[in-house]
Amino acid sequence: MKSTLTNFLTIEYELPGTRAFSTQRGCADASDAYDGLSVCHYVDAPDHIVEESRRIVANEFGVTPERLVIPRQTHSSAVAVIDDTYPDINLDGVDAMVTQRNDIVLCINTADCVPVVLCDPIAGVLGIAHSGWRGTVSRISALTIDEMCRQGALPQHIHAVMGPCICPDCFEVGEEVASIFKKEFPFVSGIVMSGPVKPHVDLPEAIRVTLIEAGLPTGYITMPPACSHCNPALYFSARRLGIKSGRTLTAAKLL
Ligand SMILES: [Zn+2]
Repeated sequence: MKSTLTNFLTIEYELPGTRAFSTQRGCADASDAYDGLSVCHYVDAPDHIVEESRRIVANEFGVTPERLVIPRQTHSSAVAVIDDTYPDINLDGVDAMVTQRNDIVLCINTADCVPVVLCDPIAGVLGIAHSGWRGTVSRISALTIDEMCRQGALPQHIHAVMGPCICPDCFEVGEEVASIFKKEFPFVSGIVMSGPVKPHVDLPEAIRVTLIEAGLPTGYITMPPACSHCNPALYFSARRLGIKSGRTLTAAKLL
């Protein structure tokens, strides 16, 4: 496999008081599950890719790689507070983080799941979450907002962006998962749809509803820029490549 990491690109998000972006793969061979920039250390990616990717991303933020806070995500609804005790914090089984520090970078890895970045620029509180279907039905975005508010944020001041993730046309689910979404979002249309074979679920729409329920202004919510599954050359997709594959990074740092 050729190293093409220098070709990687970022999708920059407009979030006040915060630098935030998602990465594109910059790969030579989209069918190679690990080809492209990926900082994720627990998906069996070659060490040299992880190390080089971390160096490149840290450099983008003007920090050392040790300042990248990268949890081991497990589709939990655990939200970690990254305060002055970091790095002495257990980040195993963590799928969301909140911080008031401006000298560290919060990182979430995804391949079809939805990365969500949240910031209150007035209070100076940053949040980030990994919202797959499990995280979405357990409203991990709202749990992250709850923790942000304990740190001084106000829902009406929080801006949110979602990164690249699987689109509703690509996200076919079993009847069981569809019925869980219907139960969790009973009065909302447009989240579960019937498809040609099986039902389809619109994860970003379910998250948008969750953010509005939590009190965010609708105008402060930015929907995903692209589908991870429709664009294999740009984003990792676990549905396409398997779970043993690289991950798209979404990273954010308070300014
Ligand atoms: Zn798609």
